[in-house]
Amino acid sequence: MEPCIPLPLADGNTLKELIQKAKDWAIMHGAGMRSKDSFSPDSINFAPFMLLPSTFPRCEFERAVGIQPVLNELMHKVAHDYDFLKNSLETTIKVDEFTGRLFNIYETVRAEGITQDVSLALLRSDYFVDQSLFVAKQVEINTISSSFGALSNVLVDLHRFVLTELGHLTELRNLPDNNALEGLCGGMLSAWKVYNQPMSAILFVIEDVTYNICDQRFHEFEIQRQNAKVRVIRNTLTEIATIGKLDNEKRLFLNDTEIAVVYFRAGYTPDHYYSETEWNARLLIERSLAIKCPSIQYHLTGTKKVQQELARPGMLDKYLTPDKVESVKEIFTGLYSLGKDEVGDKAMQMALENPTRFVLKPQREGGGNNMYGENVKSYLEKIKDSDERSAWILMERINPPVQTNYMIRPNIQGPIVTEVVSELGIFGVVLGNADTILENTQVGHMLRTKISSADEGGVAAGFGALDSVYLVDIGKAPKKHV
Ligand code: ADP
Ligand code: MG
Repeated sequence: MEPCIPLPLADGNTLKELIQKAKDWAIMHGAGMRSKDSFSPDSINFAPFMLLPSTFPRCEFERAVGIQPVLNELMHKVAHDYDFLKNSLETTIKVDEFTGRLFNIYETVRAEGITQDVSLALLRSDYFVDQSLFVAKQVEINTISSSFGALSNVLVDLHRFVLTELGHLTELRNLPDNNALEGLCGGMLSAWKVYNQPMSAILFVIEDVTYNICDQRFHEFEIQRQNAKVRVIRNTLTEIATIGKLDNEKRLFLNDTEIAVVYFRAGYTPDHYYSETEWNARLLIERSLAIKCPSIQYHLTGTKKVQQELARPGMLDKYLTPDKVESVKEIFTGLYSLGKDEVGDKAMQMALENPTRFVLKPQREGGGNNMYGENVKSYLEKIKDSDERSAWILMERINPPVQTNYMIRPNIQGPIVTEVVSELGIFGVVLGNADTILENTQVGHMLRTKISSADEGGVAAGFGALDSVYLVDIGKAPKKHV
């Protein structure tokens, strides 16, 4: 795809100056992260970013935006379908200890009787455009710790600034507005209102060390901006195990502060549970009257296994009207179970014959866990006769269109023009219980761009960078189903 403006930019002092100015703009407006190499709580680096917004087909952007309320509805209904979750995850939880423990918590609180029937979900559905079909295809949907809602807002402004510096004022209209932060925090405040205790606070569950601090703090500051009466407190699971307790109505208190809403920015990987202490804290939270973002069943709904089960023929019909089913099917790509049965054997065979066509995925979040190419083959050969097969799913690899752009990273000298590909994320908010959806909205977007040769584009890992979309009119218009 063509970049938003002709590249490369003329080398030399002007480009150097522009890059330095953009870096300073990023730091000064909070497009930042704490440094992993030289961590200090007193300083931030700019987060890796693309100098220019990346081209994205307008019709596919609109498709992804338009379908978000449908995906919100789908995830909400699936999260409230115990039988479906149990059946989908049945074999997986036997071999994947982490998912098994999450499921145990679900079973425990369900057996005790769910204290809080309202859940809040701040979702992010991720897409690559498939370069041959030219259709946005879903990579995954995140139901826990969907990050970069705040930094994505900042990136749009950064790119407006850079294009303006370069004199490309007419191009600015192709950068869509982004209010993800406002919408996500609005969702938390709606949940806080539903809880209805004026002195109660919102709890952010955090890691021991937060590298993505700007993104999180912006959420905190935005909550205060929208409602100055609502306090945000931040604690790790380890701390919550010590200072958290339930009163006789199962209200959650941290020391003397009542918690209305629990927003998880940690707890999505086994690495966050050092011992039984952290699991106890998770169970304490799930048992409580606080509104969880997400509640345990919503967390499980975001597993790769559930994504794969939903892609099986006929599965969506239970949850959505036929026209909505059709639009969701368009964004799904091939997803296959690897269980030890006939269906799984067929998928296994397909992957062994053509490993580069697939991605092998375990039940993990946070990047860096999938396998690609020859590793797919060697790993599948290793686990072919083992029950561990059920811990993984197989997904068709999506090949997005390549373009060039400048990736700007801390402590790397000189402008680097690289071939890159972009992954779009669309944010959604859902609030409700099994019977009623109180709120269902699409609230904004984000773009992450990686070097085209990298399998994954972790922003902190150095292969990926924050970006924003530059909409162009290429490709086909989406069919109007919804
Ligand atoms: P995680 O929960 O770790 O973010 P993802 O499913 O999002 O798991 O995979 C991580 C990354 O791997 C994605 O951001 C994307 O770069 C790459 N990836 C995942 N699935 C596919 C796919 N089907 N085709 C191509 N790349 C993929
Ligand atoms: Mg992902």
